[in-house]
Amino acid sequence: MTDRNTSDLLIQVAMRAEALPIIHLLSLKPIGRMDPNLPSELWQGIVHGHRISLVTNGCDPEFDCDRIGTESAAIVAFLALRITRPKLIFNAGTCGGFTSQGATIGDIYMPTRFLFHDQRVALPKFDAFAKGEKTTADFPKIRSATNAKHGTCSTGSSLDTTVDEMAFFAAESVTCKDMEAAAIVRVARDFQTPFIALKAVTDLVDHRQVVQESFLTNLKFATSRLADAVDHAARVFSAV
Ligand code: SAH
Repeated sequence: MTDRNTSDLLIQVAMRAEALPIIHLLSLKPIGRMDPNLPSELWQGIVHGHRISLVTNGCDPEFDCDRIGTESAAIVAFLALRITRPKLIFNAGTCGGFTSQGATIGDIYMPTRFLFHDQRVALPKFDAFAKGEKTTADFPKIRSATNAKHGTCSTGSSLDTTVDEMAFFAAESVTCKDMEAAAIVRVARDFQTPFIALKAVTDLVDHRQVVQESFLTNLKFATSRLADAVDHAARVFSAV
C-alpha cells in the first residue's frame, strides 16, 4: 500500500451488510485487502470532492461471518489509520437503542461519550482504563447535516444484555449499545485523529422484542438511513 491510499475521510464499518448501502450510495470501488493476513476489505472513491476510504472488519475465514466486536475493530482501525492517514475517522454502524431514552428504530445517533460496559477491573487506574470513558469533540455541521441525536455509546462483546448491564446503562444514561465504537475511539486517540460515530438503531434494548429478531428485521431500513447520514456528513465534511 502506498501514498495513493491516503484519504481525507476514513469510514470504518463492522459488517458487510452495514457497509454495502454506503458503498453503493457513494459509488466506492473495491481496492482489496489492506493486509494478506487480515480479512478486512478496503473501498475507495472521490465523493463530494473528498478522497474517501471505507474499511470493513471482513469475514472470518473459520467461522464464516463478519468479524464484529472490539478485537477486529481495533486491529482494523490501527491498520486503516496507518495506511489511509485520514483527517477524520467515522465509525458507521448499527446499535441497540433505548425506548427509555426516546429512541425509535432507524434513529441516527452521533454520540460524543463512549465507554465499555463489560470490562471490569477493580484495581486502581486499571478500573478507569477498563471502563475506557472518553468524550470526543462534537461536529455541529455534521450533526445538523445528519440530523443525528446526541448521546452516550457503550461498547461490549455481546449482542444480548445482562441485568447488571441494564443497570449500568441506566446509571450512565447510555443511548447506544454497540460492539466496536469505544475500541476504535481508543485507537483514533493514539493516532490523534478526530473521531465521529454515526449509529443507526436496529433494535431496542429495553423492549420486549428479542434483540436478534429485531436486528434482522430492521437491518435493511436502518442501514439505508445510515448510508444517507454518511452521505450527508461527507457533503459537509470540508466545512467541519
Ligand atoms: N445477528 C446479526 C449479527 C449482529 S451483531 C447477523 O447475523 O447479521 C451486532 C452488530 O451490530 C455489531 O457490530 C454491533 O456493533 C451492532 N449492534 C446492533 N445492535 C446491537 C445491540 N443491541 N447490542 C450490541 N451491538 C449491536
